[in-house]
Amino acid sequence: MTVRIVGGGLAGSEAAWQAASRGVPVTLHEMRPVRATAVHKTDRLAELVCSNSFRGDKLDNAVGLLKEEMRRLDSLVMRAAEASRVPAGAALAVDRERFAEIITETLSGHPLITIVREEVGSIPASSQTDPVIVATGPLTSDALSADLASVVGQAHLYFYDAISPIVLADTIDRSKVFRQSRWDRSLRATVRLPPSRAERASASLAVASGGGGKPDTTEDSTVSDSGSVRLQPDPLSCGIDDGEGDYLNCPLTRDEYEAFYQALVGAESATVHDFDKERFFEGCLPIEVMAHRGPDTLRFGPMKPVGLTDPRTGREPYAAVQLRQDNLAGDHFSLVGFQTQIKWGDQARVLRMIPGLEAAEFVRFGMVHRNTYVNGPAVLAETWQVRARPTLFFAGQMSGVEGYVESAASGLLAGINAAALAKGETVSSPPRTTAIGALAYYVSHANPAHYEPSNITFGIIQALDGKAPRGKKLRNLALSERALADLAVWMGS
Ligand SMILES: Cc1cc2nc3c(=O)[nH]c(=O)nc-3n(C[C@H](O)[C@H](O)[C@H](O)COP(=O)(O)OP(=O)(O)OC[C@H]3O[C@@H](n4cnc5c(N)ncnc54)[C@H](O)[C@@H]3O)c2cc1C
Repeated sequence: MTVRIVGGGLAGSEAAWQAASRGVPVTLHEMRPVRATAVHKTDRLAELVCSNSFRGDKLDNAVGLLKEEMRRLDSLVMRAAEASRVPAGAALAVDRERFAEIITETLSGHPLITIVREEVGSIPASSQTDPVIVATGPLTSDALSADLASVVGQAHLYFYDAISPIVLADTIDRSKVFRQSRWDRSLRATVRLPPSRAERASASLAVASGGGGKPDTTEDSTVSDSGSVRLQPDPLSCGIDDGEGDYLNCPLTRDEYEAFYQALVGAESATVHDFDKERFFEGCLPIEVMAHRGPDTLRFGPMKPVGLTDPRTGREPYAAVQLRQDNLAGDHFSLVGFQTQIKWGDQARVLRMIPGLEAAEFVRFGMVHRNTYVNGPAVLAETWQVRARPTLFFAGQMSGVEGYVESAASGLLAGINAAALAKGETVSSPPRTTAIGALAYYVSHANPAHYEPSNITFGIIQALDGKAPRGKKLRNLALSERALADLAVWMGS
């Protein structure tokens, strides 16, 4: 009896932990460092390849609910995230190095888990006592992709999305930027980050830039809730401003914005030539693609100034770029929502036109990547089993979900069910009233003709019976309360 897992990312790592926690031996195959991917940088398990944010962490927010359900199901990803948490207001963001280190050490030290560093070129044989979970992510290697295509046929699809640049904190000109959470939202009363070079030189500047926001007492207005199963993906997955948190803001005047805009649309980008043809994830559009949609698109997207007040003018800036702390040391900041495919030389030139970033050093440039996923509803059951071959499970991004948390959640349920199958027990999924059950239902029951991976939203969770409370926040909290109660029943069944 062994659960074999291919891919040691967020989904595969969580699946391994869940199966082993149920007493079933696990063999986890991870191809790094033997074979690299285009974006992973280390040999660690569960490496976060882009944003360091797991998004909102409150129960009036669907991804906050999903995380709480995962905590109650003893998620390793959630344990590691809590242990590596960095300041990000009402969102859960982590030190990516520490996070992956905790997961790698925990799984490597588990007596029931064997980690094999090799590329798996074809889907391994599976049986009821030896089920297989494939969790090879958006960058599934070519050989395995070809085999997957032969298993799922025409339903095997791909598209592209993009990642944001990261700058060295020390190279941000603090005299031009100001620290503020949009609408002054923050979970913490005070934020402490290491001082910049300029701050070290000037005590008065350190005082000016060291303040935090007010405690968060406001509702999350970013949750999309269309009430339908066919939803736009949540744009937060690629790190777009969640409206909550502790950010450095680079304010732009109208003249500065227009000059930046002209430079952006004139910059060399593979994306722009192809963006009509390529199928980008709408919530993760490269900035140059957004810019080409119109001069003001960015001012209503990642450069929106609403909820910000520039302390130097006492007014809302014309536009603003937000920088979010990206690691515990506080020496890396990512440009929020600034995923791009502009050529690196041009990228540095254009981004240095942003006030405060004139001398910025880039730790990582933005880029565009391939995203491999199957057509979930055509292929999967809500237990994450392949319908045509129930001893085989798909999990994570390649199974047709979107985002770190959703990928880990699918791995969690696949791990529980693979262990159950191996032990001759019943497989199941939590009800659609829970976030984890709703995600599984969406992936297995959405319209296969127009399938797009989705983040978790309240819109895919089964509506409340009877009269729902008035107001989005109260309704969402009621949905969460019911979800957690129903999850407890499922866990006890
Ligand atoms: C460039 C990029 C940026 C992204 N940005 C974000 C973001 O900001 N926020 C967010 O929530 N999500 C983001 N995503 C989506 C993100 O990849 C997923 O949310 C998450 O990493 C998926 O987890 P996973 O376990 O499915 O895949 P991964 O974490 O990618 O893990 C898959 C693992 O399988 C391994 N593997 C692949 N093929 C084989 C093989 N044949 N044999 C053995 N091992 C193999 C890989 O090395 C990898 O370790 C991004 C994705 C990419 C590619």
